Amino acid sequence: MITLRKTDFKDKVTENFTVKEWFSKSADAPDSHLLDYDLCEAVQVIRDMYNTPIRINSTLRTLKGNQDAGGSPQSNHLTGHAVDFSFISESNEDIIAFMANQWTLKGMCYQELRGMRASVIFYPTFIHIDFQEGRGFKPQSIFTDEFGTYGFGNSVKKKYFFGRTT
Ligand SMILES: [Zn+2]
Repeated sequence: MITLRKTDFKDKVTENFTVKEWFSKSADAPDSHLLDYDLCEAVQVIRDMYNTPIRINSTLRTLKGNQDAGGSPQSNHLTGHAVDFSFISESNEDIIAFMANQWTLKGMCYQELRGMRASVIFYPTFIHIDFQEGRGFKPQSIFTDEFGTYGFGNSVKKKYFFGRTT
C-alpha cells in the first residue's frame, strides 16, 4: 500500500501516471488515503504493453462515493484495492475487446497480469482490476494454472470476468 496525498498531486506514481490521476475521485475524499500499489504497477504494465494513454476512472471510493457509483457494498474500491480505467483512444472498446480476447487465448497480457495474480473484469467500456480473492462471485468455470485458481464468468454487463479464487 502507498499513501497518496493531495499535496503531492504532481508527483509521479509510475512512469506515466501522477498522484492526481490515482487519487480518489469521491466528492468527499479525504486529504490523503491508502492505495494498493500493485494496481499502479498493473496499469503501467498495460500502458506499456499497448502504448496508448489510459484514463483512471475510479480508485478508492468513500462510502458515499461508492453509493453514488452504484458499487457493491463489499466493493474492493472501498479499501483502495481496486481500479477502474479505460483507454483515452477513440478505439477504447476495441482495445478492451482485444485485451479480453488475449485473456481467453492466454496471450501476452494474460501472462503478465496473471503473473501478478490480478483479478480482472472486462466491461464493454472499462476494465476493473483488483488483487483480492473473489467474494460473492459465481464463476461459470474454474481453471487452475501456475498462477493460481481462477473462476471465469461472463454476462452482458461483465463481458468477461477472471476472478482469483485462491
Ligand atoms: Zn471497479
